[in-house]
Amino acid sequence: MATLVMKFGGTSVGSTEAIDQAAAIVLEQDRDWDRLVVVVSAMSGVTDALTRGALRSAQGDTGTYRATVTDLRARHYGVIDALLAASGERADLLGIVDRHLEEFAAFCHSVHVLGEVTPRAMDAITSLGERINARVLAAVLRARGADSEAVDATELIVTDDTFQDAVPLMDATRAKAPARLEALLERKATPIVTGFVGATAGGVTTTLGRGGSDFSAAILGDCLDADEVWIWTDVDGVMSADPRLVPDARVIPVLSYAEVGELAYFGAKVLHPRTIRPVVERGIPLWVKNTFNPSFPGTSVVSEPESTPGTVKAVTAITGLSMVTVEGRGMMGVPGIAARTFAAVASQGASVLMISQASSEQSISFLIPTAAAPPVIKAIEAEMALELARRDVDRVWSLDQVVIVTAVGTGMRGTPGVAARIFGALAGGDINVVAIAQGSSECSVSFVVSAEIAPEALRRIHEEVINNV
Ligand code: ASP
Ligand code: MG
Repeated sequence: MATLVMKFGGTSVGSTEAIDQAAAIVLEQDRDWDRLVVVVSAMSGVTDALTRGALRSAQGDTGTYRATVTDLRARHYGVIDALLAASGERADLLGIVDRHLEEFAAFCHSVHVLGEVTPRAMDAITSLGERINARVLAAVLRARGADSEAVDATELIVTDDTFQDAVPLMDATRAKAPARLEALLERKATPIVTGFVGATAGGVTTTLGRGGSDFSAAILGDCLDADEVWIWTDVDGVMSADPRLVPDARVIPVLSYAEVGELAYFGAKVLHPRTIRPVVERGIPLWVKNTFNPSFPGTSVVSEPESTPGTVKAVTAITGLSMVTVEGRGMMGVPGIAARTFAAVASQGASVLMISQASSEQSISFLIPTAAAPPVIKAIEAEMALELARRDVDRVWSLDQVVIVTAVGTGMRGTPGVAARIFGALAGGDINVVAIAQGSSECSVSFVVSAEIAPEALRRIHEEVINNV
């Protein structure tokens, strides 16, 4: 009994054409697999629109949510009018859209009256996008002769009550989800499950955090002992670099779980490692595929390190950063300077992306988002007031407009020479490197360059260590 769980992201179900295409993909896979479960996102932009409508209502603005109702009605009606015949379920579906949007309006009205929107209310509100879309896709499939039914994940995925970022309770979910889906799967019907959504044991709607429908697919893949999980998106797979910056960027055929983690951390727009952990840990193959180019194989993610020695898989950049440096001759050998520096950083709620300290101990540098730099510098100056007065610390300053460039690949581990090639490529372009850090996992090398030469740095590294393998 081969089981496939497929998830369609927002852009893969974000327009009439996309839903048409997603339905064709479902019908095709339905022929090849014994059991097929589909997870859908809301149409692209819908979760944002619902969120904005609710937040503005809390601030006293009721115009935004009303405009959102009009806009979302038009978008969903457009899909339904195009894909469902008047003689079929069209009228029912239009009614379903209206009812969900009326619910949205009623929630926003309450939020407006109360003057606040709680995380719990936000989950009830933002889950509506997926609820509508699951019903639309299931109806489109029925109109094409398939047996299909929309299922609210509130009936499947049991979570704690951390609203807006709920944690699935896997034992409870395993007890609930397969039983609910089994009846459909036995009669060979395809469940269309709302991504992103769950419910507490008491039945209160929760959501799994933004982008959470990948997580929904992974959770169901785990619970159903799926043979594979496919994530449908709008690109051919995970790319070796941002194609807007590196024209010869290409799709990475295989990535390890560790590499996914490094890529997500270092700014690539890929799967969030947390969301796919359930399937990767179980050794269930996971694929990222393009809805608009379905015959392309895509990227597969595997649990074990996968690589030829020396290979770098991707190069990424994080922009909008400043490098803060605490420097002074008197810092040498004084314990506690680093701890106090980072305590001051933490007191400002800033998250540190990279740290580098020269072994002379005469300076500590770290990278934070530019907006956080002025308050962080103030906090460090206050913490080090005595050291500054004594000139043990000379100054705390920031270098703005810098970028962290990271080369990722488990193949770097234990292979000498990769860093030399990377820095050689930069030297060849006369690119000045401001700071360097390597994770002890040896799965990535990061360095800091000024923003204006970052694209050139990316291109040179891509050329040297990705194109020339
Ligand atoms: N619709 C939700 C969001 O935009 C979940 C998802 O698309 O994965 O965050
Ligand atoms: Mg079927």
